[in-house]
Amino acid sequence: MSDQPRQTAILQCSFCNRECEHEVHYAGRILAHAKCSACGTVMQQSPNVLRKAYIKDLEHRAATKPLRLVRRILSDPGYLFTGLPKAIRRQPKKFVEEAKELRDPNKHPDA
Ligand SMILES: [Zn+2]
Repeated sequence: MSDQPRQTAILQCSFCNRECEHEVHYAGRILAHAKCSACGTVMQQSPNVLRKAYIKDLEHRAATKPLRLVRRILSDPGYLFTGLPKAIRRQPKKFVEEAKELRDPNKHPDA
């Protein structure tokens, strides 16, 4: 089970066709799966498609990180001494949580 806080979104279920709350899980910025609160149907991408999309997005995140970091520090210089150290400490756990979302749910049903 993920340690990430529970996230929800109002989506239209492709099975029961209701517009209702879904529990959503992301791998980075990529929607990994969504579970309908009305009927329990889980909508998800295939693990291979999800992994490819995640890696492509991760490459983009890594390539744009220096510029995003400079912008953040210019707009909030205090971030360099307060927010940045905390963000760096969170990175290993963040990537572990993202990797958990990439697992094949058929091989890890309780993940
Ligand atoms: Zn549903």
